[in-house]
Amino acid sequence: MQGLMQGQPLLISSLISFADRYHGGTEIVSRTIEGPIHRYSYRDAHKRARRLANALRRLGVQEADRIGTLAWNGFRHFEIYYAVSGMGAVCHTINPRLFPEQIAYIANHAEDRYVFFDLTFAPLVAKLRPHCPGVKGWVAMTDRAHLPKELPDALCFEELVAAESDDFDWPELDEDAASSLCYTSGTTGNPKGVLYSHRSTVLHSYGAALPDAMKLSAQDVVLPVVPMFHANAWGLAYACPLVGAKLVFPGAALDGKSVYELFEGEKVTFSGGVPTVWLALLQYMAEGNRRFSTLKRTVIGGSACPPAMIRAFEQDHGVEVLHAWGMTEMSPLGTVCQLKAVHQGKSLDDRLAVKSKQGRAIFGVELKIVDSAGKELPWDGKAFGDLMVRGPWIAKGYFKGEGGDPLRGGWFPTGDVATIDEEGYIQITDRSKDVIKSGGEWISSIELENVAVAHPAVAEAAVIGVRHPKWDERPLLVVQKKPGAAVTREELLAYYQDKVAKWWIPDDVVFVEALPHTATGKLLKTKLRQDFETHKLPTG
Ligand code: ADP
Repeated sequence: MQGLMQGQPLLISSLISFADRYHGGTEIVSRTIEGPIHRYSYRDAHKRARRLANALRRLGVQEADRIGTLAWNGFRHFEIYYAVSGMGAVCHTINPRLFPEQIAYIANHAEDRYVFFDLTFAPLVAKLRPHCPGVKGWVAMTDRAHLPKELPDALCFEELVAAESDDFDWPELDEDAASSLCYTSGTTGNPKGVLYSHRSTVLHSYGAALPDAMKLSAQDVVLPVVPMFHANAWGLAYACPLVGAKLVFPGAALDGKSVYELFEGEKVTFSGGVPTVWLALLQYMAEGNRRFSTLKRTVIGGSACPPAMIRAFEQDHGVEVLHAWGMTEMSPLGTVCQLKAVHQGKSLDDRLAVKSKQGRAIFGVELKIVDSAGKELPWDGKAFGDLMVRGPWIAKGYFKGEGGDPLRGGWFPTGDVATIDEEGYIQITDRSKDVIKSGGEWISSIELENVAVAHPAVAEAAVIGVRHPKWDERPLLVVQKKPGAAVTREELLAYYQDKVAKWWIPDDVVFVEALPHTATGKLLKTKLRQDFETHKLPTG
């Protein structure tokens, strides 16, 4: 017997329509690339998204066509998200920090018909154009006065929008239709496209907003530092309209000072970003003895958030950290670390110990860990294995079947190694390719990095496995010191005593000016492994 409930499809356009109808006056504030702060409301955004949808139709954009973006977090990018997906085309966000060859590969592989770009990326677009013959037009996200000189024939976003009426009815699409596309960075091999649907996006937005996930509401002022060009700004550009939260877009200025000033100026209550961004912010805060006056919570993920950073936020600033884990293939949220009732009344240290884990699954995400034979491992917080996931906002394959069928028995292998404890909290030990294999045992590079960054002289640390004649691999600690700080190799090694098992302590320490990062702000360990391939360990 079938239920007798209405079957409206879950569509991205309904998110912006809802925000317009019920939170029409709520603000969206953007720091623009041109300079001034831009302010308007969900109602205005919805109007302009409809005009843009008309403009896209006039340009000949059809359902399922891919429309690329090379853009920061800002109001025009937000309008593109809704206009493109809403009309039935596919919003393809491209990470502008990738190498130009990779971007050209991605735009060609996706068969982007138009590409929208922020002014910052005009020089990049000038370079890309000859390599992307399939792109019919490049649209500069600005007005006529600011059109880039190097691209005199670029289309002008503001002119396209101004020429149209806001009379546009969002089509009733199939909820399983493709809505957006994002390529994984692919530290090895070509990037692969993750193709989201309307249904997966709306379900993910519900999940993201839940009290035990990001706990978003119409009382929040949300500043996504995490870029809209990577993994949908962790879903914030969708989840905020769903709850009617005020949105604050930081544009290109992601340094500590700029972010802090925007937090204070706009009374931001919630933010999200990768640890490297918060590192810069916390440093800026410490320098001037500054305080947050409105910030309540921030979600941190993308790579492991060191416990020292969680402590700094919670203890020194009274800001709750929500450690989260996910991946592009998961829309991206998988787990968020929110405490349970059983943790109430525990000491700060005990609570911080839980909070340094990556959290527990949001309803909609199923998790398990398996050994190398695929056998499920116990949830005891000790056994670690390959983390597998499944659920309605998790990819079942890549765009154009790239890389073959990724699933194993219906589960998506994340490439991460993790433990799961009795309460269901996962802890990521490593990416499987970063685990250090010493004498047949595994050493967690993340745990060793977490210890190092708790040292007052260390700004950032990476631990990689280096070849060893007896043990196969041994850990090497690569450190970037804080400006003006002094610490020796011996002091750092001594710092590990009693914090980790003796045989985990790195064999050597190297100091570097700066650590390399990927286009998404993670430590670029492939580069470090190359750089230190022939490093002679004193123990070797
Ligand atoms: P890519 O950078 O390859 O596009 P994603 O941005 O999708 O990939 O990153 C997903 C990966 O990032 C995860 O598989 C995991 O290794 C890592 N990651 C994400 N969040 C965390 C976290 N909180 N702790 C540790 N690792 C994390």
